[in-house]
Amino acid sequence: MAAHLDVEKIKADSRALRGTLAISLKDPTTAAVAEADTVITKFHGIYQQDDRDQRETRREARLEPAYSFMIRVRVPGGVITPEQWLALDRLADEVANGTIRLTTRQAVQFHGVAKEDLPGLIRTIDAVLMDSLAACGDVNRNVMCHVQPEAGPVHAAALDWAKRLSEHLTPRTGAYREIWIDGEKVAGGEVEDEPIYGKTYLPRKFKSGIAIPPVNDIDVFSQDLGFIAIAEGDQLLGFNVTVGGGMGCSHGEPETFPRLADVIGFIEPEDLLAIAEAVVTIQRDFGNRDNRKRARFKYTIEDRGLEWFVSELEHRSQVKLTPPRPYQFVSNGDRYGWQRMHDGRWQLTVFVENGRLNPDARAALKTIVNDHAVDVRLTPNQNLVITGVVESEREHVDRLLDGAMSEGRGPSAIRRNSMACVALPSCGLAMAEAERYLPDLVSRIEELAERHYIAEEPITVRMSGCPNGCSRPYLAEIGLVGRAPGRYNLYLGAAFDGARLNRLDLDNVGEADILSRIDELFGLYAKGRNADERFGDFLVRADLIQAVEHGREVNAG
Ligand code: SF4
Repeated sequence: MAAHLDVEKIKADSRALRGTLAISLKDPTTAAVAEADTVITKFHGIYQQDDRDQRETRREARLEPAYSFMIRVRVPGGVITPEQWLALDRLADEVANGTIRLTTRQAVQFHGVAKEDLPGLIRTIDAVLMDSLAACGDVNRNVMCHVQPEAGPVHAAALDWAKRLSEHLTPRTGAYREIWIDGEKVAGGEVEDEPIYGKTYLPRKFKSGIAIPPVNDIDVFSQDLGFIAIAEGDQLLGFNVTVGGGMGCSHGEPETFPRLADVIGFIEPEDLLAIAEAVVTIQRDFGNRDNRKRARFKYTIEDRGLEWFVSELEHRSQVKLTPPRPYQFVSNGDRYGWQRMHDGRWQLTVFVENGRLNPDARAALKTIVNDHAVDVRLTPNQNLVITGVVESEREHVDRLLDGAMSEGRGPSAIRRNSMACVALPSCGLAMAEAERYLPDLVSRIEELAERHYIAEEPITVRMSGCPNGCSRPYLAEIGLVGRAPGRYNLYLGAAFDGARLNRLDLDNVGEADILSRIDELFGLYAKGRNADERFGDFLVRADLIQAVEHGREVNAG
């Protein structure tokens, strides 16, 4: 959001997220919406962007920037039915740039959508019971959930809670339907109450999700509010609650920092919504509304203290937390390839580089969905799971995917564990490339790994084009965050299970320095690691990187 905009005032004056959007959409003189409406569109899941590659030439030609819109479709828990997938696939060609992007929060993004195509797009997803409301903006965003359904009844129960959580925290405004779908105003034209959010919604975005040990694919410690499922056999007993995680920070501003969430206690499943609502209202009432850079919930916890927070939470929710139950995570990545599901059918997890589904991959997937009526699930690591395949059809699915998509056996272990945000050319905040550059950089890192005979070691590599950290780079064993074109901060030493942040190792460097440092450390790792020791853990044990105890240390170097 443009720094000069008074976002709190725009929200307060927006009449429950209407603003002047309906007028902006009808304005034929520009491909953009009014500036204040760019704040409001985010709550509707829509970002106005312009092609930064074209900025200079358009400016010289005295043309307005090449505006288009990114629209993010909300997919709670990442579950998409065949009918929904086919509708999304169609839209990629009809109104977007021919690709579908899978996000790090299990949502779907379309890029390059023209203003006049937005209503049709939203009506199409509405017809298959999807929406983009609250996919962005200062509200609870897409609720994440561990994606792989082989966990059977526990997964089904956790997913059900993820959907209920999503529903409970979705804004009540009728503006979305009124503006995009049927144009009908609420009777009398009055504005709806937002019982949870109030008139100004939250001070900043808010992220939540449910993890199911031993897989921490949702990076539960990066969420503002997280739930770690605790089960006994097939029975979901409840959740450990985590609060105050978050990735974003600003370069050179030490009062901002990534933060790992605290585990504050255990609750029974029936208490989840009361706890979530209380957490959100505490942030609504106590979050910092004066400084957006320090407005995330993690700073409310930092500034007021965990003891105060837990007491306020128990008071508001009327739920007494009990001590956290034991759990263990082993990784924050995805498990690729075929796995047998609880019901005897099969699921296939497929690697999608940086979440970008190109036309070939889309075509293969469309045929699979058409022929086999399988569900598609989106992972928190920008990959895909095809679920519900019967034994006799596995070979056919493999054949269709062959060449168009990889099921994880082809790319190296490092590439399979890599992830980048969109960054340039579309993201207005990007300081450096990410999605367009990481594949090449990974190729060079792979060469180094081969030279040191560690090519089959899964090592997490994540790149973000700016310190907002949409690809969760501070939880990668090798994290790269953009400083300027071709320049990055290199962070090292996070834990493979997502439970330890990394630390700044090199500040504002180019590719040669990055590769030289990785080469040196790969050499030491190859020689000095213990059996099954992960790269990040080795760096810490060998005193090459000092373990980060608190997020403030991440950028301290
Ligand atoms: Fe844009 Fe920064 Fe997020 Fe990347 S990390 S998508 S550059 S805001």
